[in-house]
Amino acid sequence: MPNGHIGGALPGSRLRVSFEFFPPKTAAMDEQLWHAVKRLEPLAPQFVSVTYGAGGTTRERTHATVKRIVDDTSLRPAAHLTCVGATREEIDRVVREYWEAGVRHIVALRGDPPAGSTSYAPHPGGYAYAADLVAGIRRVADFEVSVGAYPETHPEASSPEADLDNLRRKLDAGATRAISQYFFDVWTFLRFRDRCAKAGIAAPIIPGILPVTNFQQVVKFSRMCGASVPGWLAALFDGLDEDADTRRLVAATVAAEQVRRLQEHGVEDFHFYTLNRADLTYALCHILGMRPAATVRSAA
Ligand SMILES: Cc1cc2nc3c(=O)[nH]c(=O)nc-3n(C[C@H](O)[C@H](O)[C@H](O)COP(=O)(O)OP(=O)(O)OC[C@H]3O[C@@H](n4cnc5c(N)ncnc54)[C@H](O)[C@@H]3O)c2cc1C
Repeated sequence: MPNGHIGGALPGSRLRVSFEFFPPKTAAMDEQLWHAVKRLEPLAPQFVSVTYGAGGTTRERTHATVKRIVDDTSLRPAAHLTCVGATREEIDRVVREYWEAGVRHIVALRGDPPAGSTSYAPHPGGYAYAADLVAGIRRVADFEVSVGAYPETHPEASSPEADLDNLRRKLDAGATRAISQYFFDVWTFLRFRDRCAKAGIAAPIIPGILPVTNFQQVVKFSRMCGASVPGWLAALFDGLDEDADTRRLVAATVAAEQVRRLQEHGVEDFHFYTLNRADLTYALCHILGMRPAATVRSAA
């Protein structure tokens, strides 16, 4: 293959991307997921991650999805894992099973309270917070570990400073990168990146990019996770509830502008929340300068 390229960023670029998927529930969702995985695979992402349902509800499905990525693709999977609803021994067993299945990367999270509970309480005998989970994973085996970070501060944190201290604890416990909660105002992320740097946090903080396809759903989810939805975004989607085609064009434009502006400010790593759809993420990667293997070959 000319220049040894196997797809990905164009020669000379340091761009790196990763893609997040969720484990499918039904046969139709399964088909959609694997279509998306196969479409995005030639872009040679740094890794692809698979989420873990609240309270461990998708434990088997997450494992099966990650295992199939190991077995059937050239991609490097990262399995999300949370502290919720399990003892340390149970979690350590899951971690060992991942290692035995050939998985080498875990995204370690605290998780949200299970349905019906309003506030988080650590499981008796479990890992209390993500920092404890990171340390536990690293004790089991030499995994690469990523953690979550919150440009707008985690909603339960006592202060932005305490949340930054928590991020530092997760990195000190052995994580090597943080992936951010999604955000819509690029300055929210850039200011957070600056605050991390000022606080001496040297690990990469990767922006989590959510291409908006269903605006009403994003509004609902943002209320729970503390991400703000700017007025200008609401105005752009105003009147489009019944017009999926225009919504998709607007969504692509908004996300394209977001990634281009981040790139202008020196961001070279992007994590895409794909929602198991390839099209918008594929287009955004193209805009950023990524090409699948065949195109890089013919351009070389
Ligand atoms: C990139 C990314 C991927 C995600 N994937 C999933 C997923 O697959 N499944 C899922 O269920 N959820 C997922 N989430 C959501 C995540 O579980 C929630 O945001 C959760 O509320 C916090 O998780 P955390 O790992 O950031 O928690 P932590 O880092 O443990 O922090 C949680 C809160 O507790 C505070 N805190 C930390 N330590 C202490 C302490 N010792 N004492 C008191 N307070 C403390 C922190 O400041 C923060 O407010 C994801 C989030 C992100 C950003």
